[in-house]
Amino acid sequence: MASCDRCGKRPVILIRYSGAHLCGDHFCDFVEKRVKHEIRRQIDLKGGERIAVAVSGGKDSTVALHLANKILGARRDLDLCAITVDEGIIGYRESSIPIVAKYCRSIGVEHIVVSFEDMFGITMDEIAKRDRSLATCSYCGVLRRAAINRAAKGWHASYLATGLNLDDTAQSILMNFSRGDVERLARLGPHKRVQKGLVPRIQPLRTIPESETTLFALVNGLKFHDLECPYAPEALRNTYRSVVAQLEDKCPGTRHSILKSYDEILPTLERIYPSAKLRSCSCGEPTMSKKCKACELVDSLDDY
Ligand code: SF4
Repeated sequence: MASCDRCGKRPVILIRYSGAHLCGDHFCDFVEKRVKHEIRRQIDLKGGERIAVAVSGGKDSTVALHLANKILGARRDLDLCAITVDEGIIGYRESSIPIVAKYCRSIGVEHIVVSFEDMFGITMDEIAKRDRSLATCSYCGVLRRAAINRAAKGWHASYLATGLNLDDTAQSILMNFSRGDVERLARLGPHKRVQKGLVPRIQPLRTIPESETTLFALVNGLKFHDLECPYAPEALRNTYRSVVAQLEDKCPGTRHSILKSYDEILPTLERIYPSAKLRSCSCGEPTMSKKCKACELVDSLDDY
């Protein structure tokens, strides 16, 4: 029977891309070390920073908040908060918000909840019922990004941490390549360039596979929300999720290779696509054109 490579205890995981067997303690240590390394690599903490974590209540964002609090929470010169967006999806979001609120109370972190209804005057359920030109998730993604940015700015955040894991990151890289959207690739984050009106995003879990964030949450007894959004089956991302999973299954380490290749070409992409000059939309959000994408999409619903 296999045993932990480091202490000989019973393993909780075989990490296929490295061949390591790890017990619960050494697995958590392995995850935490990589997240610590990413936080140090992505931000130069001088003290006085305010870090907002976008927390939906799912396993990834819950692990991101848990680790951000464990790694940074002891520093008195830093502030941490959690931001949850209520998209207005009945039967889904209302059950995750109390889970985040309870966890934030237990660790003493401020919890801010903002809603599509308050910010944009419409819920995702209402958008889903309307005649529209795009898939439901396209509206949700744009509106959520704007809502989180507005909330993070309102809290005067220096950085916004998301729970994007390695699988999500590899999928996003492939999606943008497949669409030929190279300029967007340059802006995937983590953001080193600071642009007025946009809180720079950091991605502490970008090297941690989804299966490891799930196991980390379970080993640490973290409560998370695992219902599937009713609109999720429509998402194009599902195709990329299955492609990346198949590649990883056939060739362990593929997700890390996609990320490594991306990180190598990123400085070149940033040279080719320097930060665009941003204007201010009437809602206050930064935009390259007259109206920000969120206002454009919400206004377009009236045209149908
Ligand atoms: Fe929004 Fe789509 Fe995610 Fe549901 S699956 S929360 S609609 S992006």
